Amino acid sequence: MRKTLGQRRYLTNFEPHRLPHLFTDVLVLGSGLGGLRAALEAADRCDVLVVTKDAIDQATTSYAQGGIAVATSPEDNPDSHAEDTLNVACGLGHEAVIRDVVHQAPQHIRQLREWGVEFDQHGDGLAIGREGGHSHARIVHAHGDATGRELMRVLVERARRHPRIRIFEGCFAIDLLSHDGQVVGIVTFHPKYGHQMFWATTVVLATGGLGRTYRETTNPPIATGDGLTMAFRAGATLRDLEMVQFHPTTLYVAGAARALITEAVRGEGAYLLNRAGERFMPQYDPQGELAPRDVVSRAISAEMKRERAPCVYLDVRHFPAGHFAERFPTIDRLCRDFDLDPQHDLIPVRPTAHYSIGGVRVDTQGQTDLPGLLACGEAACTGLHGANRLASNSLLEGLIYGQRAGQLAAERAEANGRRDRPHAISHLLPQSPRTELDLNDVAHSLQSVMSRNVAIERSADRLRETIEIIEFWGRYVMDKVFDEPSAWETQNMLTIALCIAMAAATRCESRGVHCRTDFPQTDPQWQCHIDLRRSDDGVQTSTAPIGEPGQA
Ligand SMILES: Cc1cc2nc3c(=O)[nH]c(=O)nc-3n(C[C@H](O)[C@H](O)[C@H](O)COP(=O)(O)OP(=O)(O)OC[C@H]3O[C@@H](n4cnc5c(N)ncnc54)[C@H](O)[C@@H]3O)c2cc1C
Repeated sequence: MRKTLGQRRYLTNFEPHRLPHLFTDVLVLGSGLGGLRAALEAADRCDVLVVTKDAIDQATTSYAQGGIAVATSPEDNPDSHAEDTLNVACGLGHEAVIRDVVHQAPQHIRQLREWGVEFDQHGDGLAIGREGGHSHARIVHAHGDATGRELMRVLVERARRHPRIRIFEGCFAIDLLSHDGQVVGIVTFHPKYGHQMFWATTVVLATGGLGRTYRETTNPPIATGDGLTMAFRAGATLRDLEMVQFHPTTLYVAGAARALITEAVRGEGAYLLNRAGERFMPQYDPQGELAPRDVVSRAISAEMKRERAPCVYLDVRHFPAGHFAERFPTIDRLCRDFDLDPQHDLIPVRPTAHYSIGGVRVDTQGQTDLPGLLACGEAACTGLHGANRLASNSLLEGLIYGQRAGQLAAERAEANGRRDRPHAISHLLPQSPRTELDLNDVAHSLQSVMSRNVAIERSADRLRETIEIIEFWGRYVMDKVFDEPSAWETQNMLTIALCIAMAAATRCESRGVHCRTDFPQTDPQWQCHIDLRRSDDGVQTSTAPIGEPGQA
């Protein structure tokens, strides 16, 4: 499959003379926080088209609960926020990026408030919560645990009102178009309009994460890694893909979707208990329930293995009466849907795939190594998170890099002017004679194997097997041209899963969220990034030193 993958530049067939064409200055892929923030910034100076594969609010951002990290209290300061971020990043964080982002945070929060985001108040100031790995309470939130929904309410409203932003919902971006090494547009599919070609001076990739590559995840269905694989096929560098963060506490009710229970619940004082009813976290880490996510996830996993139990429990029964429901109304409602009363019952939880720390390598302005392509949000790897993301730092990253990508895209559009003719790019792959597999079966089996072999704990044997299995499926899936989004998503998930497994097999040490049972120690020799690129014989893996963020 690696060879098939390496040679596969486009997933779909297209010929410019047969398709409708649309022209704009800046094309934004994705309507989450990163994409909308980029669109709003660019639209002050040029025309912007936002393409999003589902309804506009079907983005991971809408599900964010805990909030946004920002040093606001008198006892706190951005340097302390930077130190916490650096500590959690386990040697892979870019110090300059981290210091820059946390110092920018207060002004971005001020701007969101001016735009109408209703952050929760405490007296005259902002209410702030505490989360794992933070040495101070510094998480601003909205409507208790509905921060993402509130952010989206304001950003969507603003984008819809903006005269220079057009939004195409239900429009699936299949691939980036490139000409002479430069990204010049995209080819899309819309159920009503079929295939279309969009052309722009700059494309901003803000397509979010890849959680759906795993059977158990907090991510919504849109998170199939499409943007990462589009960039990979176009020749961009993907960085640190082995770093998949597992959230320690998602509600575990057999058969139900894995809904997140925000870390802020532990920040408010919840305990983690094993099946025997013992509080186990203090045995694993002096910070107890507020240890960083990787530590808590591994501790839960160890307890589950030791007790042969499918889950552990969150205990909030000691909270003052009514406090949980008031502070976490969404989670309280969710528990009650399953007839669990947090005031009296233990909440069953277990870790699931949550956040992609790796992504398309970008520099401090969001520029990838492909001219014409910028990236922001979860799809980008900026160096902020290193080997482990500090809670509530990703919305912050999406805001700041979204704004920067939008600004750079607008500058380029102003400098270059709009192109109003297409490039003569076409792609026709002959029909494959090989057997067609049932793509639903492949997608489900892939998710299972990833959850089993490339999750919290990894080993060389299991990673090798996983790569073999994916390559086998890939031989029958990556050689064909399909004509519907779920098939392209399966092709994307196979591609990104192979990249994750290869990166995880390459990193022979344990660091941050990447835990190798056969290499349990952190090894200074591996204090480097792992980069992946498409090459004619498949996937090329290399290492890069920590230091300057990815340069174009
Ligand atoms: C349950 C949950 C809770 C979280 N809570 C927090 C929190 O409290 N604080 C925090 O900092 N972080 C949190 N995170 C992480 C954070 O929400 C995400 O990292 C962030 O919202 C990602 O934003 P984004 O704009 O990069 O991507 P998204 O918000 O996921 O947006 C991606 C967009 O791209 C579109 N798209 C994808 N593929 C295609 C395609 N092929 N064609 C067209 N469009 C496409 C999608 O439809 C979507 O509009 C949480 C994550 C989850 C899952």
